[in-house]
Amino acid sequence: MTTTAASSASRPGAADLAQLIRASECTVALTGAGISVPSGIPDFRTPGKGLWEKVDPMEVAHIDAFRGDPKRFWSFYRPRLHGLDGFEPNPAHEALAELERRGALEAVITQNIDTLHHKAGSERVIEVHGSIRTASCQVCDATYELAAVEELFDDDGVAVCRGCTSLVKPDVVLFGELLPAEAMAEAEALASRADLLLCVGSSLEVYPVAGLPSTTLARGGRIAIVTQGPTPYDGDAAVRLDGDVAEELSAVVAALSQRRA
Ligand code: ZN
Repeated sequence: MTTTAASSASRPGAADLAQLIRASECTVALTGAGISVPSGIPDFRTPGKGLWEKVDPMEVAHIDAFRGDPKRFWSFYRPRLHGLDGFEPNPAHEALAELERRGALEAVITQNIDTLHHKAGSERVIEVHGSIRTASCQVCDATYELAAVEELFDDDGVAVCRGCTSLVKPDVVLFGELLPAEAMAEAEALASRADLLLCVGSSLEVYPVAGLPSTTLARGGRIAIVTQGPTPYDGDAAVRLDGDVAEELSAVVAALSQRRA
């Protein structure tokens, strides 16, 4: 089988998904770490392959670790922050951006902090786990763009606020933190309005995001799942694709184009 933009004939599942999208008046995407794997960002939940293989994320990327030992937190997170900034979107991100441009996708809800949906050109992106784009002072709420964070480090390698010298934290949701209420409310509203929730690269196991497909199903919407590995919703999916996310979504866009032509 060939690689790029496989024809819908070679991917009947992609044609089925294209049909679902065509029939839907409100399609919303929900994406997880799997959509960024083809960009080279490992999924820490994949055993043996993850970024977190040598450290315990619950220990290092936990809000208590940030507060209790910011030096250790930043020694781990500082290179990660800049490393993540260097990745580029892949055809799966681009496919979702293209669907939005065509009016076939309402929004992307993402668990990812890597900003690759924005880089790919998606406009309405709800980042329920925050993003690396900014970091904020934990006391005075001063906010710093990622590019400016590097200038905040003191001699101990801890980022401190230029104004009040308090700790600055990346605006990502650390373990032990609640998800941002506003983003979650928007995600819930979208999931309940969606005729089709297109779940891409998420194992759909981490709550509260994992509850969004239930919301869509309860309102009579359908769900489609494009991800490698099992999810708790596999039996509920109208379409279930388990190939490479970049190839699958490229094929979906190609199938939509073919029918339109
Ligand atoms: Zn401050």
